[in-house]
Amino acid sequence: MIITLKSDTTQKGIDQVVQKIKELGFTPHISKGAERTIIGVIGENAIRYRNVFEAMFIVESIVPISKPYKLVSREFKKENTKVKIGKVEIGGKAIVVMAGPCAVESRDLLLEVAQQVKEAGAKILRGGAFKPRTSPYSFQGLGKEGLKLLAEVSRITDLPVVTEVMDPRQVEMVSEYVHIIQIGARNMQNFDLLREVGRGSRPVLLKRGIASTIKEFLMSAEYVLSGGNYDLILCERGIRTFEDATRFTLDLSAVPLIKKLSHLPVVVDPSHGTGMRDLVAPMSRAAIAAGSDGLIVEVHPRPEEALSDGLQSVIPQDFHRFMKEIKSIARVLGRGS
Ligand code: PEP
Ligand code: MN
Repeated sequence: MIITLKSDTTQKGIDQVVQKIKELGFTPHISKGAERTIIGVIGENAIRYRNVFEAMFIVESIVPISKPYKLVSREFKKENTKVKIGKVEIGGKAIVVMAGPCAVESRDLLLEVAQQVKEAGAKILRGGAFKPRTSPYSFQGLGKEGLKLLAEVSRITDLPVVTEVMDPRQVEMVSEYVHIIQIGARNMQNFDLLREVGRGSRPVLLKRGIASTIKEFLMSAEYVLSGGNYDLILCERGIRTFEDATRFTLDLSAVPLIKKLSHLPVVVDPSHGTGMRDLVAPMSRAAIAAGSDGLIVEVHPRPEEALSDGLQSVIPQDFHRFMKEIKSIARVLGRGS
């Protein structure tokens, strides 16, 4: 349930309610809005204690949350969540584009791509050091060495970086090198991993599972927020359908729907979502038009030599071109930088 406190409630009043929630064995989650403080009471059947809180004079109203996800829901928080990474804000007015190679392959390649995508207007550098490959014989990523390169290139270019973590035991180590932790589609329901990043302090980019419903996606997001980490970005990256002409089916309707159901920022990955270089620009334009807060795009200067996902990697010149189109669309929607 959600407890909304009266607008003149003091910190002492908030503390009293929090204390009561804990005494009853539930977990309080506080959301301080511009006018009112809302406290989410998380735990099974919390609503049966409604009377206890209704009796407190500082409580304005109590609303049960009927959805299985609570903290990620719009009911819990009306305002959009803005995730801040240094000077970059995801979920605010401006569209944020993350771009870079699928995998960190070498220092030179990473630096080259980073400079090119920055020049084109990307605000965050992407690159995988631990790669979840379908085949155990495919390039698995440079591991810790790749993280060091990401950190170095981030310092040189002043771009924050996002990278995937696959193992809960590596969350702490990866967090030392990068700014955003990515949970890949294949790990969307790795609950130990979700709990681990939920305990952490790094912002998280959670990708939708390849066969997951939006409800399941939001339940996974709930794991992260319920651990105390509210800095979560959701990423639509395509789902498996009967269609095999594209690598996945990019579900763009998920964008406005999730924005309705949740306060969290949503970005779109047109690279994995289509698997086809030529479709990346049009689907990026469509994603921004559909209300996406940003994009995550694979860029490689020589896709034919890429160690992973060359077929869907766009070359920097094309990336540059479609970034201009995206900026125009964003401006029309009042979302220019
Ligand atoms: C990636 O972004 O590098 C990746 C592997 O994506 P996904 O988990 O969406 O397949
Ligand atoms: Mn990839």
